[in-house]
Amino acid sequence: MNRILIDSFNFFKGFPASIGGFFEGLLDTVIPALCPVCKENPAGERGFCSDCISAFLRVDHPYCISCGEPFVSKEVVEHRCKWCMVKPPYFRKARSFALYDGLLLDAIHRFKYNSKTSLASPFASLMLMTEIDISSYDAVLPVPIHKKRLRERGFNQSLLLGRRLVRHGSGRVYPMTLKKKTISLPQVGLTRKERIKNVRGTFRVVRPCDVKGKRVLLVDDVMTTGATVNECSKVLKRAGAEFVDVITIARTAKSGFKRSLPFS
Ligand SMILES: [Zn+2]
Ligand SMILES: [Zn+2]
Repeated sequence: MNRILIDSFNFFKGFPASIGGFFEGLLDTVIPALCPVCKENPAGERGFCSDCISAFLRVDHPYCISCGEPFVSKEVVEHRCKWCMVKPPYFRKARSFALYDGLLLDAIHRFKYNSKTSLASPFASLMLMTEIDISSYDAVLPVPIHKKRLRERGFNQSLLLGRRLVRHGSGRVYPMTLKKKTISLPQVGLTRKERIKNVRGTFRVVRPCDVKGKRVLLVDDVMTTGATVNECSKVLKRAGAEFVDVITIARTAKSGFKRSLPFS
């Protein structure tokens, strides 16, 4: 039976896009798409199966009210973490769906480095599970990548996420407003201080009128120390943004979580 359905699927693929798309949609209801992580269970409405979603390590309260860094102790009253107290970030708040670890880390790697762009929609639906209310922003800006990186990768993963997110809000995406002027060294293996220095002065607001007086949501895939999103927020605030909030799929956490802390 399945063989017949698969043959039918391949047959309809040869049709013009609109007709093929209709039959593909029809077949999706007969053969539900599989979860892109475990490839065993049917993907749920968020694009991943419920087992995989519960295996992701959600960033849960309590966390820093500014940068969203989860606190190791569950007993503390929420406050600013030490980094945000010493030097408040330029963004108002940053929120992430889960920790950059395990299954989610693998999936983000496939999205970013293996061109698995079909993961953009499922990831965006995970981002909608954070406390960020997508309908309360005027402008959604992806963290840009340098044109050389764009040529190598073929897409900006943050732009794909931003485009999916705005479908659930009232604002619009501004893909060209923020530019990465210079190519910086990869942030891998750098200390917090080195990361800040590495991205300093590397972003530019090309069209300030796109953000002046606006509530801006900055989108990225992963946040580590926050050096990149903070540098972007700095130039956006200087260009007149009312405030900047940040949303990412995942973020690293401090060693108290005893997780491997890779890179971003
Ligand atoms: Zn799954
Ligand atoms: Zn903080």
